[in-house]
Amino acid sequence: MTTTVIAPQQATRIDCDRCGVRALSLAILPGGGELAFCGHHGRAHEEHLAAAGAQMVPLP
Ligand SMILES: [Zn+2]
Repeated sequence: MTTTVIAPQQATRIDCDRCGVRALSLAILPGGGELAFCGHHGRAHEEHLAAAGAQMVPLP
């Protein structure tokens, strides 16, 4: 099992995968993918993502 930890330091701008505005958080999925969310969509999906085992990482 390999674990890839992505540290979004000095991040280039990341846009919300849902609406395209600047993302404020990144969800790292247990299967290996990532989803970026703005404040609104981060809140909207946070519980569901956490329940699925995703790790929420705040972006600077
Ligand atoms: Zn959004």
